[in-house]
Amino acid sequence: MSNKFNVGWNLENTYMSLPNIMFSAINVNPVGNPQLVKLNKELATSLGLNSNALESKQGVEQLAGNTIIEGGIPIAQAYAGHQFGHFTMLGDGRALLLGEHISPSGELFDVQLKGSGRTPYSRGGDGRAGLGPMLREYIISEAMHALGIPTTRSLTVITTGEDIMRETVQRGAVMTRIAASHLRVGTFQFAAKWGTHEELQALADYAIERHYPILMNKENRYLLFLQEVITRQAALIAKWQLVGFIHGVMNTDNMTISGETIDYGPCAFMDTYNPNTVFSSIDIQGRYAYENQPNIAGWNLARLAESLLPLIHEDQDEAVKQAQEAMTAYPKIYETHWLTGMGNKLGIFNIEEGDISLIDNLLQLMEQYGADYTNTFRLLTLGKIEEIDLYGKDNFDQWHEKWQKRLEEQDVSKDFIQQLMQKSNPIVIPRNHRVEEALEAAVEKEDYSVFENLLKVISNPYDYSSDYIDYTTLPPDTSGPYKTFCGT
Ligand code: AMP
Ligand code: MG
Repeated sequence: MSNKFNVGWNLENTYMSLPNIMFSAINVNPVGNPQLVKLNKELATSLGLNSNALESKQGVEQLAGNTIIEGGIPIAQAYAGHQFGHFTMLGDGRALLLGEHISPSGELFDVQLKGSGRTPYSRGGDGRAGLGPMLREYIISEAMHALGIPTTRSLTVITTGEDIMRETVQRGAVMTRIAASHLRVGTFQFAAKWGTHEELQALADYAIERHYPILMNKENRYLLFLQEVITRQAALIAKWQLVGFIHGVMNTDNMTISGETIDYGPCAFMDTYNPNTVFSSIDIQGRYAYENQPNIAGWNLARLAESLLPLIHEDQDEAVKQAQEAMTAYPKIYETHWLTGMGNKLGIFNIEEGDISLIDNLLQLMEQYGADYTNTFRLLTLGKIEEIDLYGKDNFDQWHEKWQKRLEEQDVSKDFIQQLMQKSNPIVIPRNHRVEEALEAAVEKEDYSVFENLLKVISNPYDYSSDYIDYTTLPPDTSGPYKTFCGT
């Protein structure tokens, strides 16, 4: 009987149709002893891939970057970016694109290895990644997906059998990242700065064809493209704010054109509601604090707009005028998504004028009394008012009464309102102490059970029938402020 190895990869190399400056072909950098530690079977199935073949020695060798998948041509993508406001040449310094996989439904997905070794863009880095940070990206990106937030996803995590040097010695790992694409704001900044007009145009046409194909034949397609990216990013950032997600490193190279969340470095979810929350140890100024995220996204989009100017109109003043006009839509679109979402979290179907103060007042109370963000909305959903951190505090009673009145004005049943709230308020998020505990067991003890349990829980964040009460509790008081690191 033939036992032919076939994962089901169906790779194209469309990125290589772009001008040469946009990428570098690279040789793979084999690792000593690749071992699969996590495979996302659900994702594999949705991509039309065979999990058994992926788990086999040959399948693992491929996603460790030791051998090349048939049809794949490894390249590193060039890009630039504003890192904490400073413009720099970057590029895939520790990642490679194997190609674009065509899914059974005909969609195109980038297949990228992260931690796969040095490339021409590595600068001083070793091109490698640690097991902890790769498992962290796996768990947070899966949580985001389950929360209904557009995101890149993680297909596999493979340990390399090699140590890497960071502040301490860490176990090396390679993650396979699946993305609608890895086109970033920084990709356009790179082409605008170092490419010719034609090269920039080729990139923009590629992005449009891939993500916004209906614009392809439109005369003013570059302006429309900018508008579409603005629209998707405004929707995305509103979703982050609504669940209390803090990205931590919103540099322009970490913002996609597709509207997916990318690059899970120092990100984390907020427990106590505090708009100034920053987790990243390197974000000293709080540039990427929770409350700054919408503005920073706007700033990043303005960098995209600038990069596109030569394509928007040949007359620079006219181009600037049109791009600025497009940018004015951003805060409005963001606000609409955020208000609608906040309304839904409170069981309100259609936002009205007075609802803004209802929302603001609740957030003010939460800030004043340090209430837990996720649990406050979860308990409001469940009607367990006495359990809320705000119960018995000044003004909460009045707020609650006002809210109840507002809900009664709606011509719908209580059940209906509760359903809306259940869909809008996760019962669990990947709380920082839970993530740490899962990573510690996996990395230090090779015990993946804690990781697997957490993964199961965060995969159903809106399932109010589940018994996840253990995962809704806060870290012990002794744990101090949570800090995250870039993991580079
Ligand atoms: P990130 O913080 O992951 O967004 O990475 C920012 C830039 O640094 C990107 O160009 C990465 O490819 C590069 N980089 C991060 N870590 C490494 C590493 N260990 N080796 C080489 N390049 C890296
Ligand atoms: Mg990055």
